Amino acid sequence: MTDTTTLAPQTAGAETAVLDHWVNGAPWAGASDRTGQVFNPALGTVQKHVRFASAADVGAAVDVASAAAAAWRDASIAKRQTVLFAFRELLNARKGELAEILTSEHGKVLADAHGEIARGMEVVEFACGLGHLTKGAYSENVSTGIDVYTLRQPLGVVGIISPFNFPAMVPLWFFSIALAAGNAVILKPSEKDPTAANWLAALLTEAGLPDGVLNVVHGDKEAVDALLEHPDVRAISFVGSTPIAHYVYETATRNGKRVQALGGAKNHMLVLPDADLDLAADAAVNAGFGSAGERCMAISVVLAVDTIADEFVQKVSERMATLRTGDGMRGCDMGPLITGQHRDKVTSYIDVASADGAAVVVDGRGIDVDGDPNGFWLGPTLIDKVPTTSTVYQDEIFGPVLSVVRVEGYEDGLGIINSSRYGNGTAIFTNDGGAARRFQREAQVGMIGINVPIPVPVAYHSFGGWKASLFGDAKAYGPHGFEFFTAEKAVTSRWLDPSHGGLNLGFPQHD
Ligand code: NAD
Repeated sequence: MTDTTTLAPQTAGAETAVLDHWVNGAPWAGASDRTGQVFNPALGTVQKHVRFASAADVGAAVDVASAAAAAWRDASIAKRQTVLFAFRELLNARKGELAEILTSEHGKVLADAHGEIARGMEVVEFACGLGHLTKGAYSENVSTGIDVYTLRQPLGVVGIISPFNFPAMVPLWFFSIALAAGNAVILKPSEKDPTAANWLAALLTEAGLPDGVLNVVHGDKEAVDALLEHPDVRAISFVGSTPIAHYVYETATRNGKRVQALGGAKNHMLVLPDADLDLAADAAVNAGFGSAGERCMAISVVLAVDTIADEFVQKVSERMATLRTGDGMRGCDMGPLITGQHRDKVTSYIDVASADGAAVVVDGRGIDVDGDPNGFWLGPTLIDKVPTTSTVYQDEIFGPVLSVVRVEGYEDGLGIINSSRYGNGTAIFTNDGGAARRFQREAQVGMIGINVPIPVPVAYHSFGGWKASLFGDAKAYGPHGFEFFTAEKAVTSRWLDPSHGGLNLGFPQHD
């Protein structure tokens, strides 16, 4: 990599600024002249452009990463730990800057942006334990004078492709562990809010990560396809919508790569009659409308048992009336959607709901916002009596639209959850321990909450769904993360002593 010039770097004036890739420890323009727009969703304006890499640009970045991977693989555990500790300290000290980037490009409110960073930083802290987490096993004297032990070694260059809704946390989930395990990384963040990735890459450089070990390449399908097909990329970690996750899984595995591809979701919350309805209503509002519903662990469907459904809907509506939607920099509860196009798509489901016979209890269209009128707004919306045949129920809407489906009881609710094509997260609200225990056993879902609406596991467990919410067999971070980013090798060793047995052409047996 020789060309590290930048064209109109980030410091230039708003709409004309162009965000470069980050390759070999510095901004890099690449050769492609394609770019995409980056909006400020609270203002509805383009605030910068981002470069879209060509396949040749991706190839150049992979060459840089491959060259850097050799030395990073040999960096001691202590050295890698030192870099990660330093990175964690810098991130903690400067997280306010990152939170503002997240709010200005994604739209989530500042407090939520801090939450995203905290959950990402948790994985950095976990990854600092790499000495323990990359340990192998040792069996002494499996046969006379013979020992067997396992090593966990880095894969080489790995690719990370991340979604718009967590522009810092999802990259942190993966690259912290990939780097800790001794790999070099190409990160392809969402083109909708790309700046956080460059900010994190620059911080890693400041923390002492050698140049070329983590590279950020921006772009769209062309860049993704180049990563999926490049022979020197050994593994792909993807997070995004189900159709793309499926495509990524099929394409990258066909090209011989190890793949974990986390997809979309439709998360149900089952509210039984014995639940604390105030707790459940708070939870439904928090998990339904936080980050404007643009979370893969958002609750988008409440399954309310008939006997308490009216009271529950009333409690949720009352709470929704207190929410303030507006600019995330102004201390509002809920910000805008990511683009005008996405806002319009989400809004269209409110019409579908009425046509399908559901009751729109709270309509978020045309609400007063504390922000610029041109922002991509849609207020919190509550739709009751949604038929499960409606696309409002079936589709991942990914916006501030909470559906209520009325059910007869536990069995009915569980049946609906287990019929869903998705299986990311789910929650039960109840005071009956027996019902909760049955639920954790019987729900066909990867992450279960019991009186907890967003059951994102802590960093030392692993995160991932079932069914169309995860393709591949490795979840994100936690123990699965270290397994994914390392290859295990088993060594059978004998140091000869004078009593070795001489020639024996039979299959090895133990004596
Ligand atoms: P997306 O699938 O549109 O994009 C994800 C990534 O794929 C981006 O980097 C994008 O540039 C790339 N991409 C988009 N179209 C592509 C194509 N045709 N070919 C190759 N690459 C392509 O997802 P998004 O809209 O950015 O994110 C929201 C989705 O992500 C939701 O479905 C949400 O549920 C899901 N998500 C899932 C999890 C999880 O852990 N399961 C976490 C966060 C988000």
